[in-house]
Amino acid sequence: QHSLTPDQDLRQRAARVIPGGLWGHQRAAAVPRGYPQFFKGGKGARVTDANGQSYIDFMCAWGPMVLGYGNEVVDRAALGQIAMGDSLNGPTPHLVELAELMVETIPHADWAMFQKNGTDATTACVTIARATTQKRKVLVARGAYHGAAPWCTPSLLGVTSEDRAHLLHYDYNDAESLKAAVAEAGEDLAAVIVSAFKHDLGKVQSAPDRDFATAARALCDATGAALIVDDVRAGFRLNLGGTWEEVGVRADLSAWSKAIANGYPLSAVTGAERFREAAAQIYVTGSFWYGGTPMAAAVATIRELHRLNGPALMKASGEAFRQGLSEQAARHGFEVDLSGPAAMPLMKFAGDDELSTLGEQFCQQALAEGVYLHHRHNMFLSTAHDAAVIAEALERTEKAFTALAQNRRT
Ligand code: PMP
Repeated sequence: QHSLTPDQDLRQRAARVIPGGLWGHQRAAAVPRGYPQFFKGGKGARVTDANGQSYIDFMCAWGPMVLGYGNEVVDRAALGQIAMGDSLNGPTPHLVELAELMVETIPHADWAMFQKNGTDATTACVTIARATTQKRKVLVARGAYHGAAPWCTPSLLGVTSEDRAHLLHYDYNDAESLKAAVAEAGEDLAAVIVSAFKHDLGKVQSAPDRDFATAARALCDATGAALIVDDVRAGFRLNLGGTWEEVGVRADLSAWSKAIANGYPLSAVTGAERFREAAAQIYVTGSFWYGGTPMAAAVATIRELHRLNGPALMKASGEAFRQGLSEQAARHGFEVDLSGPAAMPLMKFAGDDELSTLGEQFCQQALAEGVYLHHRHNMFLSTAHDAAVIAEALERTEKAFTALAQNRRT
């Protein structure tokens, strides 16, 4: 009789009482083979699975960990509020402080409101756009992810065609296709929603093209539609003012989440003056949307990102990691494409399709060496990924490339 590892035991028990063992992007079937599903802790750039294995982590909890796991500055702020109470009859003073900090930090923002998840924020942006314009059509890039609500979930199971009735599609970074979609919407255009950059699952990533971004702004200005930037995944990692600051284009409405509070549950919508009144009139809320702890954590996170110049640190580490990986790949005879911003890289092997066969094998080898990577979803660096962590990670990925090359020969 062999005994199960804690992870295996948890999976077996989960399979009995949780549909599919786990749901959404973490559903049991989607976890790369050999990867642990359950974790028990993390510190800095390292995460520990339920079996007690520790890894240098390049997923950062799928984005939230921007200052590293268990960041003391953020946790001190959060624990201070926990000691006083989290959910109360109304918000704590942190709400106003956080809204002020976001309005100061984000150039397009004249106001902010808060929710829990990225989907809450993208959905609220669409509602505010429709309420302001009194129009219905929303243009979405093909293949882009904006959350798991009926209007945007990538799975149509359980979704009605009515839920999607007023969506029209364009291709990201293709101004002509956006123009065509705007024309198709005619007089009924409420919003154009754009990803911060092209980060579709399994696909090579690309930065927003300046001409595309400028065209999107001009089309919204001409029609009165809202330009919504979905900065849920990239926000607070690349540019504290918002990802499209890099291309000199400002949103009317932006959705934020993931990195905003270093892992405490929070999302936000920021908006321009023209959208304030509708934002005040629509009805959006949630039992846990006013809790003080995540807001205290967000104030500390954003201040700390300013103090450290977090985006520059993550960019530098990301560049060192990317350069190391591409040199190793070349030395071992693999052609890889490292795309996306340095702090949010994706590595694809030449010849791999969206399922990334070689990529998955490489990640499995890296995991065995104690480095947690992902082969299909962009990865994330944090400010805890300093030069020493990157050097150690590269020593381990060197071993993973060696093993991958050996497997290829046999
Ligand atoms: N938009 C983008 C770009 C995202 O990456 C995500 C989450 N991966 C969402 C929206 C939805 O956020 P959440 O899962 O917190 O609802």
